[in-house]
Amino acid sequence: VLEVDERTGYTMPPEVYPAALNPFKRANAAFVALVRNSEREAMRDSMRNVEARFNKKFGYPWVFLNEEPFDEAFKVGVRKMTRSQVTFAQIPKQHWSYPSWINQTHAAEERQKMVDEGVIYGGSESYRHMCRFNSGFFYQQEVLKPYQWYWRVEPGVEYFCDIDYDPFLFMEANKKVYGFTIVLYEYLRTVETLWEATREFARLHPQYIDPDNAINFLVDDKSKDLQNGDWNLCHFWSNFEIGSLDFWRSEAYQEASRAPRAIFADLALSGRQYFKFLDEKGGFFYERWGDAPVHSFAAALFLPKEKIHNFYDISYRHNPYQTCPQNRKLFHDNGKCECYPENSFDLDGQWWRVAGNPHEL
Ligand code: GDP
Ligand code: MN
Repeated sequence: VLEVDERTGYTMPPEVYPAALNPFKRANAAFVALVRNSEREAMRDSMRNVEARFNKKFGYPWVFLNEEPFDEAFKVGVRKMTRSQVTFAQIPKQHWSYPSWINQTHAAEERQKMVDEGVIYGGSESYRHMCRFNSGFFYQQEVLKPYQWYWRVEPGVEYFCDIDYDPFLFMEANKKVYGFTIVLYEYLRTVETLWEATREFARLHPQYIDPDNAINFLVDDKSKDLQNGDWNLCHFWSNFEIGSLDFWRSEAYQEASRAPRAIFADLALSGRQYFKFLDEKGGFFYERWGDAPVHSFAAALFLPKEKIHNFYDISYRHNPYQTCPQNRKLFHDNGKCECYPENSFDLDGQWWRVAGNPHEL
């Protein structure tokens, strides 16, 4: 039953979300958090930041994913943090388990080597399932089907500036596909064969490599290309992402061709689009491939570089790194941000080689 609120004159649905009260155009978007029950309080801290700095005014829904059922305390706790719609979903077993072609004995041996070498998360199986899930499955979840855009939020992150505009609509209006805040160097030991696998994929499917790609982000030597250049280990830190779900659902990354002559297309492609191709290599388990370099390679190679956006104005922290906008007049003197510009991590700007230094604005 719809009621009219006497004070505002708005029609009130049975459950009133800010989304329903916000008369402005909004994107088809949601916050997405993969999180464990044990991370409830850290998740609430993240939400407190996101809601205060942005979402209180915009009312985008939250979607929580977990390979286990969320417990009541988690559900009650996170619901208290937002007036927006909240959805909880359990990840299907096949998205969080070993594929049939993985030799689990070999995987265990490789994990042990990493433990002996002191590699962070080197012995963890769950970390590997998490990275594989974030690489190939989050965007396929039934609860995310209705959405076109996502904003990834991890427990324990912080936002230090007011976000006074809608980043989703910004992405839409400017035809952006992938947005990030921090770039850094990957730990080589965890991705030893990922670059070579990506090169092989590009040789098999050259049509997916955009002619105006961001190879200069991945390879320092400007005279080299994907096939002969060394990866400089740069990648987008994926614990923050604002992006298009449809990009991950695209043919290059995920889907087999739906062309009428798919029977022939499939012979050529054999269902080996980028994620599947990587998954069959086994590196998520035999090494410890992260979703950050996997997403980064796809974004930097399959997209024209103009479609990747540096949200330098969103001051974000995930331990131990943070960014903070440099322009004091625009961001600091007016009380918009609480961070200190000198604490910004990315002051040498690996992405600037591609898109210029945004802080000069
Ligand atoms: P780090 O940022 O690389 O140190 O890794 P995190 O521990 O923060 O994990 C990355 C994301 O995946 C976070 O959002 C975690 O809450 C989530 N995550 C990691 N492991 C698991 C897991 O076993 N189950 C679930 N449900 N979430 C996980
Ligand atoms: Mn984290």
